[in-house]
Amino acid sequence: MTPDLAARVALLDRLYTRYDGFLAGIDGLACREGCAACCTADVVLTSLEAHALITRLGPAQREGLEAALARGSTAEGFQPRVTTNGLADCCARGEAPPPETAPQGTGRCLLLRDERCPAYALRPFGCRCFVSRRTCRTTGCAEVDDVVLTVNTVFLQVLEHLDRPGCQGNFATLLALMSRPGPAAAYAAGHLDGHAWGLLPNRPLTILMVPPEHRGALAPLLGDLRRLLAG
Ligand code: SF4
Ligand code: SF4
Repeated sequence: MTPDLAARVALLDRLYTRYDGFLAGIDGLACREGCAACCTADVVLTSLEAHALITRLGPAQREGLEAALARGSTAEGFQPRVTTNGLADCCARGEAPPPETAPQGTGRCLLLRDERCPAYALRPFGCRCFVSRRTCRTTGCAEVDDVVLTVNTVFLQVLEHLDRPGCQGNFATLLALMSRPGPAAAYAAGHLDGHAWGLLPNRPLTILMVPPEHRGALAPLLGDLRRLLAG
């Protein structure tokens, strides 16, 4: 049975806390609040994260979001064609996933103001998990450990599994949709359909994408996640 919406938001918070704890255990990450080269229009999030973000914005943040949505295009950022669990299922079947158009990294996140995130504490997993050992602005790209990429994939799989029925897709697109009263109510009632907006339905987690060389390192974290999800 899928937990109710309030329980899923509470679980989302615990997943964020666990992930932030994982990052805190890594020495030498260059990331900090106010470093915003990674704040592009290509961030992807789930509908549960969009719901949690929108419903927790303060009045000024909410006004800023509405102004940004009124100003900005919601069509310029990365729109994935397969979810993380969809990709895992393709791999398990030995099938090639649908080809993706690579993120361009050119557009800026619609929330960003003066190179700062006005909702940093509420930012979705797609922002939290974009980390680097060197400052991207000087190197031109992120430098990420392979094991971090595997942990990121596991969290993306769990977040997708948790947000069912729900969907995922581009940050600006999903925020524009769920800022509307009708879709917000439809999501709360468990029947948001994001198909017409190019959003993808979330799928259950059937197989974790953890390569053999990372299984030992990830064992404690996977145990924590199992306990967390079991309630
Ligand atoms: S990923 Fe790069 S741009 Fe983003 S916070 Fe870290 S160092 Fe800064
Ligand atoms: S939500 Fe905040 S942290 Fe994430 S990309 Fe936008 S401005 Fe950056």
